[in-house]
Amino acid sequence: MIESRTLGYLNCQKVTYPCKNCGKVYNYYSSLARHLKHECGVEPKFHCPLCPYRTKHKSSLNTHLNGRHMKLLSEFYTMPNGNKLSSSMNAGN
Ligand SMILES: [Zn+2]
Ligand SMILES: [Zn+2]
Repeated sequence: MIESRTLGYLNCQKVTYPCKNCGKVYNYYSSLARHLKHECGVEPKFHCPLCPYRTKHKSSLNTHLNGRHMKLLSEFYTMPNGNKLSSSMNAGN
């Protein structure tokens, strides 16, 4: 398997569809569209509530949170005793 054939392909005036985001090149527009939709254009699901950081992996977000916002997070979770759970059971006669 020699890749000289691929080089010859590149010399030809062939229409290709490069991805603007990652530089991947596709021979068909449909392939590029699919790539954009399922691979490249996929929005990161997990976003940091404290900064614009976004990621596709939850573990990455956790790492980010622990590394960057450790201090903030501790404040975030330490909530003042503001929520009352006492239900007033006043059975009026
Ligand atoms: Zn891409
Ligand atoms: Zn963040």
